Amino acid sequence: MENILTTTDGINFTTGEALLEFSYLVAAILFVMGLKLLSRPETARKGNIWAAAGMVLAMVTTLLLHKDPEGNPISLSNALFILIAIAFAGTLGWIIARRIKMTAMPQLVSFFNATGGAASALVAFLEFPNVSGTGVIIVTLAGLTIGSISFSGSLIAYGKLDGKVGDIRASFMRYVNILLLIVVVVIIVLISSGNTGALQPQAAALILLTVAVIYGVMFVMPIGGADMPVVISLLNSFTGIAAAMAGFIYNNQAMILGGILVGSAGTILTILMCKAMNRSLLNVIIGAFGGGAAAATGEQGSIKEITVSDASILLAYSQKVVIVPGYGLAVAQAQHIASEMDELLTEKGVEVKYAIHPVAGRMPGHMNVLLAEADVPYDKLVEMDDINPNLPNTDVVMVIGANDVVNPASEDDPSSPIYGMPIIKAHTAKNVIVMKRGMGKGYAGIENALFFNDKTRMLFGNAKDSIQKLVTEIKSL
Ligand code: NDP
Repeated sequence: MENILTTTDGINFTTGEALLEFSYLVAAILFVMGLKLLSRPETARKGNIWAAAGMVLAMVTTLLLHKDPEGNPISLSNALFILIAIAFAGTLGWIIARRIKMTAMPQLVSFFNATGGAASALVAFLEFPNVSGTGVIIVTLAGLTIGSISFSGSLIAYGKLDGKVGDIRASFMRYVNILLLIVVVVIIVLISSGNTGALQPQAAALILLTVAVIYGVMFVMPIGGADMPVVISLLNSFTGIAAAMAGFIYNNQAMILGGILVGSAGTILTILMCKAMNRSLLNVIIGAFGGGAAAATGEQGSIKEITVSDASILLAYSQKVVIVPGYGLAVAQAQHIASEMDELLTEKGVEVKYAIHPVAGRMPGHMNVLLAEADVPYDKLVEMDDINPNLPNTDVVMVIGANDVVNPASEDDPSSPIYGMPIIKAHTAKNVIVMKRGMGKGYAGIENALFFNDKTRMLFGNAKDSIQKLVTEIKSL
């Protein structure tokens, strides 16, 4: 017989229930602290572990202490099923995450997000016959809808990032989407008011799920490829909200809190990314940026090349060098060799810093993660707003595989699709060396006047090979 504890307002708890609720509180604190630690590159790894520990705690205590409304614990056979599912999915997730390339991380996030949305939608669909009360029914149906949209939308986003799905855009799609949303709301109203007529409520819920899945596809389909990270972040917040609603169905505090944290973090990230591109969320969703529709201005003059030996002399005899890493550095996996070059130059008395643009690469914090991997000291990484005023006094800005984030069109070409996006003002430095393979465009698909600037010289080639050659040359100086 378990001890019964009574709170000051007369609510009775068994010791097990009290322990379970307490463990959820500890898990929630671990989630919040984990999120806080994730906000700085130095502590991000630790933050991940803390949040994961919170999740493990919540899962273990739920398995051991959860009781159904009749007071029965989880049966041994059910616990076994749950453990097999955790072991299988955990191993699969581990293997996929270990094998995935850093540049394919957004695809992975999108794919995992789709599974989260599907899980929340399934929980809502399966529990729907067991819930009662208009409020709980509405929350369940909302969770079902949002989870389904997040599932199909994230799969399309995954396909787009992986180059498997193209953009399909037609003006009528906007009207179809509005119609689908109206259908969703009407079905929710009919089910929650018990007016589904001859149709069983469960069958109506299945129709709702289907319409929501179609809406998810239609919602993401027309959005431009370059906007996918923003869309994924938005869908991520949807999944969080759906998970919180699933937690509401089970009256599970850890699920509600975890879902709310994911939902709010996703929303904040979405806003920050839109801000970094100087665009509204609405413009991202209907603006068709980076999907091939961007106006590509023609070539703007001639380009000048630089040899490896001239570049190494220029770098080694400079006082201040600023490296601007971009997506190409990630593709070439050039972070380690870039760090080696930095060490060599530093030994020669050159001050080397890295200019970090918030949306360089293909996910927020992409460059921080890459450079941390190569053990670049954090104090060398300078945020865009802090480095820009120092660039006119910089001898050489070395752009490694970056393009859009240094494109001056964002400042002086109102017709450019990236007009207004804050950039790293590489063109204000005394000399600019741009390292890329050829004249390939960036994600926004537009020409870059920086490459034709009088102060700019191009060092063509795969970034890793070019830096390797520079390192050899600098060593011989
Ligand atoms: P870009 O995508 O603009 O440009 C990358 C450049 O790298 C290309 O021009 C390419 O030129 C070059 N490149 C590719 N492979 C290599 C290689 N192996 N070696 C050397 N160079 C290479 O990158 P940025 O980082 O400047 O900009 C990121 C873009 O992604 C922005 O448009 C941003 O808005 C968008 N985006 C990013 C988000 C984020 O969270 N990070 C979110 C939303 C959007 P070439 O083919 O000639 O080599």
